[in-house]
Amino acid sequence: MTEVLPFARPLIGDDECAAVDAVLRSGWLATGARCREFEQALSSYFGGRPTRVVTSGTAALELALRLAGIGAGDEVITCPLSWVATANVVLAVGATPVFVDADASTRNIDLGRIEAAIGPRTRLLLPVDLAGLPVDRDRLAAIAAHHRLRVLEDAAQSIGASWRGARIGSFGDLVSFSFHANKNMTTGEGGCLVMNDVDEAHRFEKLRLQGVTRRADGSMEVDVLGGKANLTDIAAALGLVQLRRLDAFNARRRALARLYFEHFDRSLGFDLPPADFEQSNWHMFQPLLPLDRLRIGRGEFIDAMRGEGIAVGVHYPAMHLFALYRARGFREGQFPVAEDIGRRTVTLPLHAGMRDEDVVRVCDAVRRVTTAALR
Ligand SMILES: *Cc1c(COP(=O)(O)O)cnc(C)c1O
Repeated sequence: MTEVLPFARPLIGDDECAAVDAVLRSGWLATGARCREFEQALSSYFGGRPTRVVTSGTAALELALRLAGIGAGDEVITCPLSWVATANVVLAVGATPVFVDADASTRNIDLGRIEAAIGPRTRLLLPVDLAGLPVDRDRLAAIAAHHRLRVLEDAAQSIGASWRGARIGSFGDLVSFSFHANKNMTTGEGGCLVMNDVDEAHRFEKLRLQGVTRRADGSMEVDVLGGKANLTDIAAALGLVQLRRLDAFNARRRALARLYFEHFDRSLGFDLPPADFEQSNWHMFQPLLPLDRLRIGRGEFIDAMRGEGIAVGVHYPAMHLFALYRARGFREGQFPVAEDIGRRTVTLPLHAGMRDEDVVRVCDAVRRVTTAALR
């Protein structure tokens, strides 16, 4: 039996190993010159906008909400179809998440339903580019401007993606990214926030590390309660190499996604994701199972695929149905599109190290497993 094909896998080479090795031998492991260099490289990647790195995408989101002054009594509009971090950070700062259902075709927040969810306490929009497919930034900006709302883009999955030729992160308000090991580029764990100006970046630096400001004379001041979310130079060294390779990784992902569309058997009845080969960075390839045609459920499909040597993931069940959110009054039936996608979605292998034959092998396995399970 060949090795199981994972659904995600970081692509780490000799350059990454050498960069980390050099930091380990340097005597400076925590935040230092490599972090500053990484921030400069990220900032150039995002068109010169101020960018600061932190220990995770979750930390970037939570500190961004604090930076925007979001707290108790404030409402934040987001979509229940995301990694649960997206709404957990809203709870973490004491604010209230207000969910808006997903759009069945993009699987991102349904922009047409946002205005009905805006009330007197709404302060910020928190959209997510699921699987790397960008939310319509023109409509988003128009809604935010009309209602005077801040925007925090959860772009954890869309690094290197673009909207009408402009790279995600190079425009807008606050934009957050993740460098978790399953994302399109990684620092093991890590993340960053892109901001509007150096004043915001300076306040973010304080929130990231105990509220400390260091003065030129060597003294320091603490005037806000900051946390502990500064990145290590070990991680930053890895990130510097990965960032140089990111566009090539994403080009490879797009090519593999195209191959999926060529080889996937449409007669099986799956709903394929939007075929966007221009703007998406193809963070994931997620068909929706034709459950009403099958004698098996998603768990059995995943087990059968594993039997074929292929790992399949689930990203994500609609988060308002988790106990934490049910306890806050959310119920089944409130967001039918997100719930339906959340029940049927499967993540097939897609990562930059895959070969063309791997896609063919996955499509063949999907055909065998599905055909054997048809009613
Ligand atoms: C990965 C991810 C996060 C969180 O990033 P971490 O680095 O794991 O904390 C947040 N939102 C979305 C949509 C993600 O995919």
